Amino acid sequence: MSTQLTGAENIRWDLNELFSNIDDPRIDAVLSNSKVQAEAFVELYKGKLGDLTAAELAEAYNTLESISGPLYRLGQYIHLLYAVDTADDKIKATLAKIEQSSSTTSNLLVFFGLELGNLTEEQFAIFDGAKALGDFGYKIAKLRKNARYNLSEKEEQIINLKDLNGSNAHQKLYNELATSFSFEFELDGEVQTMSGDQLRALRQHPDADVRQRAMKLFFSRYEEHALTINHLYNSLVKDHGIEVGLRGYENPISTMNSHNDLSDASIQALNDVTTESYTLVNRYYKLKAKMLGMEELTLADIYAPLPQSSKVYPFEEAKQLVLDGFKSFDDDFHAKAKAMFDENRIDAPVGPSKRGGAFCSSSTPDLKPFVLLNYTGKVRDVSTMAHELGHAIHAMFSSDQKLMNYHSILPLAETASIFSEMVLTDSLLKKETDVEVKKSMLTGKLEDIFASSHRQNMFSSFEVASHAAINAQLQSPQELCELYTIEIQKMFGDSVTVTPEYAWEWSSIPHIFNVPFYVYAYNFGNLLVLALYQQYLDEGESFKPKYKEFLSMGSSASPADITNIVGADINDPDFWRKSLKYIESLIDQLEELV
Ligand SMILES: [Zn+2]
Repeated sequence: MSTQLTGAENIRWDLNELFSNIDDPRIDAVLSNSKVQAEAFVELYKGKLGDLTAAELAEAYNTLESISGPLYRLGQYIHLLYAVDTADDKIKATLAKIEQSSSTTSNLLVFFGLELGNLTEEQFAIFDGAKALGDFGYKIAKLRKNARYNLSEKEEQIINLKDLNGSNAHQKLYNELATSFSFEFELDGEVQTMSGDQLRALRQHPDADVRQRAMKLFFSRYEEHALTINHLYNSLVKDHGIEVGLRGYENPISTMNSHNDLSDASIQALNDVTTESYTLVNRYYKLKAKMLGMEELTLADIYAPLPQSSKVYPFEEAKQLVLDGFKSFDDDFHAKAKAMFDENRIDAPVGPSKRGGAFCSSSTPDLKPFVLLNYTGKVRDVSTMAHELGHAIHAMFSSDQKLMNYHSILPLAETASIFSEMVLTDSLLKKETDVEVKKSMLTGKLEDIFASSHRQNMFSSFEVASHAAINAQLQSPQELCELYTIEIQKMFGDSVTVTPEYAWEWSSIPHIFNVPFYVYAYNFGNLLVLALYQQYLDEGESFKPKYKEFLSMGSSASPADITNIVGADINDPDFWRKSLKYIESLIDQLEELV
């Protein structure tokens, strides 16, 4: 990989706070101590949870956290080492050793949650709403609430055993089949063998003919395997439906809603509002056709590159832009982000055996997080820096929480990261005078929003429709293709031409096979932040203290209660509509520039 020097080359993190090096004798000490402590914990509590007082149960949780804490830090340490050097044999061997040993220890502790969920009503009454549970109250109540969908221990064991050769095996077959696909594709006058990911990446190719041929070829493989894939999808959905019935959930989607502790009504409101905003998608892609100078866009063109600005941001400049953005928003945000640089908690350069992408890693509340980047100086990398620092700021705001409540749950996990990106975008847009740079910022932002909200909502609507259909009667591949085409047409209207091969797209989406109803969380997280950001634009200063309190909650209360802190009601469609106002303002700005 050839990369221009950006000054990111020397920005490496310092992990000394965790362990001094891979031979640190404290590594083995953590593994053996935690095992001994876990065994003592089992000895002390197994089979006895029903006899504890609420204060004793809270103490048990504290002990549990003191056993898990060092393992979390060790796990973080080895994963960070591995992330910057995935080719090092010694790191790999140590990683495997640590994972093996940690999972043995955590398996010893699994009984705790199960036993608590299985207590009789009389036994649990003493804990129900007890003040003495303190910070553990919410998680215990949630565990208990979801335990009502549990079956008897024997039945759960049978399901687990049968799943190995049932739904788990079906998922495995789907994933293995899809990853086995390879494609012969002609590019630049030469036939090349490509993986599915490589072929799909050609949606960003500047030549429309390449984009369309690539996607046609990609979906044709799924169509060829329609018999197998359709059979797998039907049987996974049917299996899910049977469990919904056995466990007594209201609807298929309620399985995920109760896992996320979100009401069916809030998810319905989210889905309704996103669907009504498909008009914005429509408006944007008509604009995009104009920007590309194309008469007609097809679905293969939705990620077609626009004339890009080739501006390169040296690392120092990006750091300054991001910090200035935070500064313009709030001093606490700025100070927390700055500490990440000052304390060498960021690993920035691209490296030959470093993993790709970017992430923020946090382990226990008493330590600040670490951020990994692959900084190359593109405007997108500046955004990513703001995004990951947003995660770090979120974690630092939650640092007074117990370990168990420290990490936020999936639907709220992007609350500070995407917010930070918007703070940066707004501050950059105000400063930037180059129209091309502005256009590429706005289109980048809008396409991100449509990919993580509207597109996920389309998948999620398809899941609702296909689960209802399959639970009533097994569906043929053509019937599922028809259901999917209805959803695509709803989303894009007349802004793009839907070519027939896209009817097979549903069969290429791993999430709907592997974790039913998972995808709506992306939309939830994304629109939530846009709505909060719009609320900030409307309310100004008075929004900030409430927002900081929101971020300091970690996962110590339900998403509905946490969002309530800023006065938001996630069951109310009008709250979600605020996000649309923000999206619309981006499209307005872009329209003016075009
Ligand atoms: Zn993120």
